Amino acid sequence: MMMSMSTSPPPQAPKGTVDFLPPDGDRLQALEDGFTGLARRYGYRRVYTPTIEHTEVFLRLGEATDVVRKEMYTFEDRGGRSLTLRPEATAGIVRSFVEHGLAKRVPLPWKVYSVGQNFRAEAPQKGRYREFRQLDAEAIGDAGPAIDVEVIDLAMEFLRVAEGGELALLVNSMGDGACKPAFVDLFRSYLEGRRTDLCRDCGERIEGNPLRVLDCKNPGCRAVTEDAPRIVDHLCDPCGKHLDAVLTGLDALGWKYRVEPRLVRGLDYYTRTTFEIQSADLDAAQNALGGGGRYDGLVEDLGGDPTPGIGFALGCERILLATAGAVTAAGTGPGQTVQAVVVDVAGGTAALEALSALRKAGVSADGAGWERSMKAQMRSAERLGAVMVVVLGPDEVAQGTAQIKDLRSGEQRAVALSAVADEVKGALR
Ligand SMILES: [Zn+2]
Ligand SMILES: [Zn+2]
Repeated sequence: MMMSMSTSPPPQAPKGTVDFLPPDGDRLQALEDGFTGLARRYGYRRVYTPTIEHTEVFLRLGEATDVVRKEMYTFEDRGGRSLTLRPEATAGIVRSFVEHGLAKRVPLPWKVYSVGQNFRAEAPQKGRYREFRQLDAEAIGDAGPAIDVEVIDLAMEFLRVAEGGELALLVNSMGDGACKPAFVDLFRSYLEGRRTDLCRDCGERIEGNPLRVLDCKNPGCRAVTEDAPRIVDHLCDPCGKHLDAVLTGLDALGWKYRVEPRLVRGLDYYTRTTFEIQSADLDAAQNALGGGGRYDGLVEDLGGDPTPGIGFALGCERILLATAGAVTAAGTGPGQTVQAVVVDVAGGTAALEALSALRKAGVSADGAGWERSMKAQMRSAERLGAVMVVVLGPDEVAQGTAQIKDLRSGEQRAVALSAVADEVKGALR
């Protein structure tokens, strides 16, 4: 016996993690189900990759990024290998694409989606956790702007239905190997001239990752970047044409957007199209529901032949936060969990058999504490949101019957025990 444990306070979930209890757990599941259905309709198929990867996979994303430098959960396993809990999904998916030689084995683009946890040691805030869930889609092996439009359309269409509120779509281009390096140099020398006006973090970013300064919320840094050179003014001709084609496609599909030259996503690997989707239902500091972009160099960075790719990730916790009112109003409340409740005051196995028959017939059904009084069980049935109640009294069961009651109308009648499932199912139709 571990007696010493009894004096400790009860354990709590680690900082930055969250329990999704019903009905929030059900809302999370509904998001995942909705995303799965839509992604499949767009021709994306499910991929599962490990939650842990060799640390090297993420180091290749760029050692200068904040995510890689400061936010990864990295540890040595028992064999002395350095492993990291994935901070995002794309790197592992691209690693799997390269490892399994898919570039030569499957039709391209390889279109996949995933749903799962990622881990970042960030300061927790509302809707942002250290263990967080993302809905993710990737299309690898297509350089054309049409796939960019498709990917953005999938993200927007999902959020239009799931979020239900006002969305803002921000689009930018990060340029490519031909124009991004020269722009980064230009941007860096601009920042060097204003170094004393920048916060300490941004001072450190100038050398390795100057574009991240655009993300800084510090008013001084924002003032500096207001007048900074804009990447959209320095795109090479092919990048400019690519961006135009993406915007034309979004116009054709009726999506409103804003070209936002300040938009740079957290990881270094983005090229050309990047986008972010914000919710008007959330505060400005935490209104991003997700985003993504093109990563034409990433397959090569992870050891494959040069292969373009694009994808996005949407944050489940943020979406739940944005829809907190809407979803509850739509009726996924704690009460609405079962269709039928079996109330038993007869004893024996008739209630077990009736419950089993209902569930086999596809009715969501439950008992309500069969050792309790009829009155207590009926109260539970109402609290569980049941529409139909099956009542098993000693007299009924002795005669091979049960009472079924429709709680909507109050109507009640006797049916044969063997017909309970069919009768309830019929009444629910
Ligand atoms: Zn700053
Ligand atoms: Zn370019």
